[in-house]
Amino acid sequence: MHSKVVIIGSGPAGLTAALYAARANLEPLVVRGLQPGGLIATTSEVENYPGFVEGIGGFELADNMEKQAARFGAQFIDTLVTKVDASTRPFTLSTDSGETITADTIIVSTGASPRKLGVPGEEKLANRGVSYCATCDGFFFRNKRVVVVGGGNSALDEGLFLTRYVDELVIVHRRDTLRADPVLQERAFSNPKVRFIWDSTVEEILGDDKVTGVVLKNLKTGERSELAADGVFPYIGHIPNTKIFEGVLTLDEGGYIVTDGRQHTNVPGIFAAGDAVDYIYRQAITAAGEGCKAAMEATWFLAEQEHAASKASQAEREEVSSPALGEW
Ligand code: NAP
Repeated sequence: MHSKVVIIGSGPAGLTAALYAARANLEPLVVRGLQPGGLIATTSEVENYPGFVEGIGGFELADNMEKQAARFGAQFIDTLVTKVDASTRPFTLSTDSGETITADTIIVSTGASPRKLGVPGEEKLANRGVSYCATCDGFFFRNKRVVVVGGGNSALDEGLFLTRYVDELVIVHRRDTLRADPVLQERAFSNPKVRFIWDSTVEEILGDDKVTGVVLKNLKTGERSELAADGVFPYIGHIPNTKIFEGVLTLDEGGYIVTDGRQHTNVPGIFAAGDAVDYIYRQAITAAGEGCKAAMEATWFLAEQEHAASKASQAEREEVSSPALGEW
């Protein structure tokens, strides 16, 4: 299987890249991966993607994006890329279904996964009070008490966003000092809706079909206690899905793919977009924007390659038809 553009990952970045590459007649191949549609497809309601006055379901948004790309000729395959050989072009991708794909260019849009607490109740109550996206789900917690876990910028930033809706925000942090920027700390400390529980971890999330509370453990005293709550937002970092690119692409210390601002990676012909690159905004709309940029860059890259190849073959033809002087 060969494609001029292989897109790894099918969230907003990958699907937007597919749309643009398809409209450039490049017939891109999208490898859907573990989570077709990406994280957005698991979100119940998306109210901040422009163009949808009443909002749109996350699955429907991703599904629409896929259908729009397919309409222009994008192809889709349900498999997982397990290895990328970027040492020569065309690049070679191995997959878990045993298929080998070759690609003239690759767009990496593998996304990132929220780091999980790994405690009982977390998985069972996901989307039933456990959420990893305050921007997406904060609205559903109007006048409720919500627990945020973590002490970094995300915990405070997203927690402060939640105070627009909630009655009380309890930030549970495993130490007694925050990692977040001072400006966010000041805002959190001065917000009357915010309360901190220090030196503590969430040991369990309680509830049958929706969150009713958490079990906390004080790490200094070992004491356990229960706190009633309607929602839990773990913000203990993200893990970019870039393991297969270790040793292939330049990654930063957090595992995010390093790009040059025009979605170029360190390997010519390999571009990256979305949450595998972006550790700041992490929004569907910013991922889609990067996907668009990556596809345009891939299109220009292929055009340059074609131009260089045709110039080289023309030069070769000219050399054959007009022998050097000494040969006359
Ligand atoms: P982060 O900075 O790595 O912070 C993660 C937080 O979670 C830390 O407070 C950490 O505690 C805690 N934590 C980690 N593992 C834990 C566990 N197993 N149990 C309990 N707590 C745990 O991650 P982030 O806040 O997602 O930020 C990621 C990057 O995005 C950073 O570079 C950040 O600056 C950036 N960002 C910036 C902004 C902004 O500028 N407004 C907003 C969001 C994110 P310790 O402190 O004890 O390690």
